[in-house]
Amino acid sequence: TSHWAHFNMAPPDPIIGLNEAYNKDDSPDKVNVGVGAYRCDQGAPYVLPVVREAEKAIIAEGMDHEYSGIAGDPDFVNLALKFVYGDDCAALREKRVAGVQTLSGTGGLRVFGETLATFGHKHIYVPNPTWGNHIPIFTNAGLEVRKYRYYDNDTCSLDFSNLIDDMRAMPEGSCILLHACAHNPTGMDPTVDQWKDISDVALERNLLPFFDSAYQGFASGDARKDAAAVRMFVEEGHNIAVVQSFSKNFGLYGQRVGALSVVAAEPDEASRVLSQLKVHIRPSYSNPPRHGARIVTKILADPEKTNDFVDQCMGMAKRIDGMRYELRQALEGLGSSRSWDHVTSQIGMFAYSGLTKDQVVALREKHHIYCTLDGRISMAGVTSNNVEYIARAIHDVTG
Ligand code: PMP
Repeated sequence: TSHWAHFNMAPPDPIIGLNEAYNKDDSPDKVNVGVGAYRCDQGAPYVLPVVREAEKAIIAEGMDHEYSGIAGDPDFVNLALKFVYGDDCAALREKRVAGVQTLSGTGGLRVFGETLATFGHKHIYVPNPTWGNHIPIFTNAGLEVRKYRYYDNDTCSLDFSNLIDDMRAMPEGSCILLHACAHNPTGMDPTVDQWKDISDVALERNLLPFFDSAYQGFASGDARKDAAAVRMFVEEGHNIAVVQSFSKNFGLYGQRVGALSVVAAEPDEASRVLSQLKVHIRPSYSNPPRHGARIVTKILADPEKTNDFVDQCMGMAKRIDGMRYELRQALEGLGSSRSWDHVTSQIGMFAYSGLTKDQVVALREKHHIYCTLDGRISMAGVTSNNVEYIARAIHDVTG
């Protein structure tokens, strides 16, 4: 018999699987609002002009294809850390931040999860709900995934007092994953004052805050503002860890550009942490790919290109924001009896619509609109051409 006869069919991925179903659908009306990948208003993938320019420059330089180090390109890592912590960050100045280049956000989450498991962590806390992939990433890293309350479905808002209660009940030293900005899937972030309270409780309980920063610059259009929580926690004295993705803000999805960093108490501790991150990377994928990191380095090393990046990233954030207003207005214009205020109060790539699983299935089967079963709609896939169609369909299944 075949070596593979006992392999049963695994279920499709709840998010990526939507692309497969969408591709098979031959309706001319079909809409893909599943995966969080930015589309321009014509519905096509978008390459930032500043990225195109950087690519041309890199090719013109005739670079070689030698291996990167295990921790990746140090120039890239330094620029990535400045991007998230800020140029004036004391921890960076004091050389007590360990950083490595990773296979985008996903790869950084996995490397850090494995490293935590090696050093005695048995569990990690993630918000409920959270990005679906967090759960298998940390489970496969050897951690038990526990949830803390985050969102109140009835009011479509942050469940803040329960979040704080759940933090107070966490065993001392626990790692708590926080979305740095543009919480996925809810689009609902703590306010500055709420972040301060979260920081205070984390200090009280000696928790380890681990920030997942997948949308810096993409959430508000202002990269500094989107990093405010990370920066506040470092200033408040937390020795945090941060994973950064350059998929959305730089539109480099398939290039797998990311960074993982750990703030330590002093430089020697940072070097020891760095050595352990490398121990996890080497037998996993050995070293990260070069091209995407070179693009980000070219841009962030040059103030003029960085300004262009900021403008172009802001352009994406603005288009999405515009679509939030149009979608809400269209739903209200159709006479929907529900409130759609949350569509415009949420930020980032997604609208956490509040649609039930049955309504999502109806949206797919009746209207060929593909979003995740939790009702998360990728606003990046909404365009001037399809917004009215989407609104009518949502109205039809919720009306
Ligand atoms: N974290 C969050 C919260 C995300 O939304 C995503 C992308 N959907 C990621 C991490 C990872 O994406 P990537 O691996 O492309 O960086």
